[in-house]
Amino acid sequence: MPRWDSDGSGASRPSGGEGGGPGNDSVSRRAAAIEAILLDVDGVLTDGTFEPGDEVAGIPERKRFHSRDGLGLVMAKRSGLRLGFVTGRSSGTVRGRARELSLDYLREGCFDKGPAFDEACLRFGLSPEQVAFVGDDVQDLPALRRAGFAAAPADAHPAVLACVHFVADAPGGRGAVRQIIERILEARGKLDNALYRFWG
Ligand SMILES: [Mg+2]
Repeated sequence: MPRWDSDGSGASRPSGGEGGGPGNDSVSRRAAAIEAILLDVDGVLTDGTFEPGDEVAGIPERKRFHSRDGLGLVMAKRSGLRLGFVTGRSSGTVRGRARELSLDYLREGCFDKGPAFDEACLRFGLSPEQVAFVGDDVQDLPALRRAGFAAAPADAHPAVLACVHFVADAPGGRGAVRQIIERILEARGKLDNALYRFWG
């Protein structure tokens, strides 16, 4: 079995830390129940910056995604988790990314993310305890409060950090999503398999 200690620290498991939300003595139990992951996009899968586009002129909005997060999403899909984006903006770039990753759910132009979370649960046939949400800013709070496992990048708004169960060491757009996915896969006993396939 491969060792997962590429940072040289000898650590064999994802790090990151508990957030300020309730029930943090049971982060692993919460993560083990997860069957689907919903993610905000800006500030989570990106560093929050973007260059506005012009859809009429056919100029797409430009965002920068991180390849390690992308592979994490592939690992999650291959491990049987369902995935969705819930984003406040509308962007062909995000729609393209959703197609590329064969996402199971996409809500754009969504500022009220609580009802979107409820809708995704219904669509998936899952209870809120079985659905994770990853967000970085205050409009994510209604969904984060509903989620069985709420997680955030290291540079999320303080109100978000105070509410979630797990905070990644990495900031948004720089590997936070990969770390959160690996934490969930670890709790579900699927991390070694998800990583092992890449050792051939
Ligand atoms: Mg955001």
